[in-house]
Amino acid sequence: MPRRWMAGPPWLYERLHGCGYRYTLPREAVLQVLTQTPEHLSAEDIYFLVHARYPQIGLTTVYRTLDLLVRMGIVVKFDFGDGRARFELAAHSGGKSHHHHLICTLCGRVIDYSDFLEKEKELLQTTQKGLSEKYNFEITDHLIQFYGKCQQCKNAEKQAERR
Ligand SMILES: [Zn+2]
Ligand SMILES: [Zn+2]
Ligand SMILES: [Zn+2]
Repeated sequence: MPRRWMAGPPWLYERLHGCGYRYTLPREAVLQVLTQTPEHLSAEDIYFLVHARYPQIGLTTVYRTLDLLVRMGIVVKFDFGDGRARFELAAHSGGKSHHHHLICTLCGRVIDYSDFLEKEKELLQTTQKGLSEKYNFEITDHLIQFYGKCQQCKNAEKQAERR
């Protein structure tokens, strides 16, 4: 196996191997793209970037690779309500630290938000504690997404009204 492309994050090989998976070029390439972007990319976006570097990798392979990485918890899959799943490297896999999302329903902009107030943390802890007791459910993580209009879209609306 040619080893020259094995330049991804060093923990990846261990993780895949530990789960009985081989360290393949598509897995390496998809992880490379996700490690290098602050964006929330769709499978097609990822395919486009992977394909530019490795034309032999097809869209189906990218879909399958993403499914595997999501199942392994290395990558997180989001639904921002526009019908296209988006992917982000999990915090414990070297991605951005734990954060929540503000999603503009007009332009699709996604803002990462991690400057939590003490009160928010308290509220979350109380909520999680209550839920896990009520449903005897062990909570390991949560996703929080707020939907609305971003600043740019609000400004554009205002300008349109003035006309
Ligand atoms: Zn949170
Ligand atoms: Zn917007
Ligand atoms: Zn994010």
